[in-house]
Amino acid sequence: MNNIQFQDFGTQNNWINGRYLSSNSSNTIAVISPYYDKEIATVPDSNFSDLDDAVQGAKKAFPDWASKNIRDRAEVMFNLKSIMQKNLEELAYLIALDNGKTVADAKGSILRGKEVVEFATSLPSVLRGDSSPVGAGVTCTMTHEPLGVVAGITPFNFPAMVPLWMIPLAITTGNCFILKPSEQTPLSALKIAEYLKEAGLPDGVFSVINGSRVAVEGICDHPDIKAVAFVGSSNVAKIVYSRSTALGKRALCLGGAKNYMIVVPDADQDSTAKGLLASSMGSAGQRCMAASVAIGVADIDHIIDQLVEEAKAFELGVDMGTIISKTALDRITNYIDDAEKMGARVLIDGRTAPQPEEYKNGYWLGVTILDGVDPNWPCAKEEIFGPVLSIIRTDTLENAMKIENENHYGNAAAVFTTSGEVAKMISESASAGMVGINIGVPVPREPYSFGGWNESKYGHGDITGRSGVDFWTNLKKVTARWPKSTDTWRKYF
Ligand code: NAD
Repeated sequence: MNNIQFQDFGTQNNWINGRYLSSNSSNTIAVISPYYDKEIATVPDSNFSDLDDAVQGAKKAFPDWASKNIRDRAEVMFNLKSIMQKNLEELAYLIALDNGKTVADAKGSILRGKEVVEFATSLPSVLRGDSSPVGAGVTCTMTHEPLGVVAGITPFNFPAMVPLWMIPLAITTGNCFILKPSEQTPLSALKIAEYLKEAGLPDGVFSVINGSRVAVEGICDHPDIKAVAFVGSSNVAKIVYSRSTALGKRALCLGGAKNYMIVVPDADQDSTAKGLLASSMGSAGQRCMAASVAIGVADIDHIIDQLVEEAKAFELGVDMGTIISKTALDRITNYIDDAEKMGARVLIDGRTAPQPEEYKNGYWLGVTILDGVDPNWPCAKEEIFGPVLSIIRTDTLENAMKIENENHYGNAAAVFTTSGEVAKMISESASAGMVGINIGVPVPREPYSFGGWNESKYGHGDITGRSGVDFWTNLKKVTARWPKSTDTWRKYF
């Protein structure tokens, strides 16, 4: 049951040195609940001096934290995992309220984030180091060393899960981490700060700096921040990547997406129709793994007919939450209006979907399915980030692959078929970092890493899994030849 009560959280501060601290900036940002179109909190639009307070606290905490045994650092993750499990309802509720997800969706996203916490608990085994003889009496030992003070900047659409892609790996490897959450959805990040303290994390190892562009630019520019991870739109990802790396920082910036699902007539009808719907409409289409275009090769009408029937049963507020903001709602609706004017057939029109009576001011848009879409229309090429599925019809697999390959993004792609040969061909030729075979949302589970290609990512490596561990650490190689024993010791031999 999705029972989201309005709640006013008042002024929310930054989290620095293990406690809430008010900002040095007098500028604030209103946090609006998309269920109510009403302010539920304000956060500071933090400035460089706020960020510097967090950096100084982190620098002070770093030597002790980095010198702890990795088992002790992983212990905090064991504790965090059970605290998150115990408080699942509370965290999910905060996410629903500021992001607009249903409570069920919010819980699902937390559980996905928790998988990275679980992976972090295994780091004492994963990072046990390498050592071997490399010459006569000479050994080489390689260890992963923390970088120091590092930072992450995250988007609105997964307010807890995306920060949890970064926090567990960055801090368990011995870094001190500063998070700049989305100013639209800051509530759960602050709650995670409280959980980490309860889990035993020393003050200063984790901080939250609220804010927007000024705080992000400060993170890119601060001389004592060694690495920056970013997840958000490609335009900002590109800016953060170039600004951070220009100053010699390590940066990994994940951007936007346009993901295509290729459907062939031999695909299993029931699971394909359900898979297309879940992939395009989950999180109301506001996720970088949403496949927002289905490319039907030859006649897939039987699958589309079932998709439309399934979609008719979708209920706003139960199966799908809201859009994040009025601005986003208008932007998405414009894509639908324009596609209709260009000649798309609107099989299901989310603009007229019944809205939940109890949240009548919410930013609602129902399932929208557009058929007969031309590959060159904006709805087929650009990231819409809403519950809109465009269907392109084509005759050949080659054409389908050409459409997928020509898009400048490269996060994910999927193929629905019962033919092994087709599946192999599409998965080998897709220009995307994550590919699904009969899976519409091909998120690799830990320890496999998450990350796209092309303009869906700036920087090398992925954000989670072993690749994430590598991002947050430096390799140290010690080559040793032990000196001959001195005379004092020789007598014992
Ligand atoms: P966004 O780019 O607007 O914001 C992301 C972060 O950047 C926020 O913390 C925001 O405060 C900051 N920011 C925004 N404008 C800025 C500017 N001009 N200068 C400096 N910082 C700025 O993204 P969003 O709307 O919050 O999230 C949606 C986007 O995130 C979509 O494009 C989606 O595909 C992408 N996303 C990608 C992944 C992935 O794994 N590739 C995952 C989740 C979301």
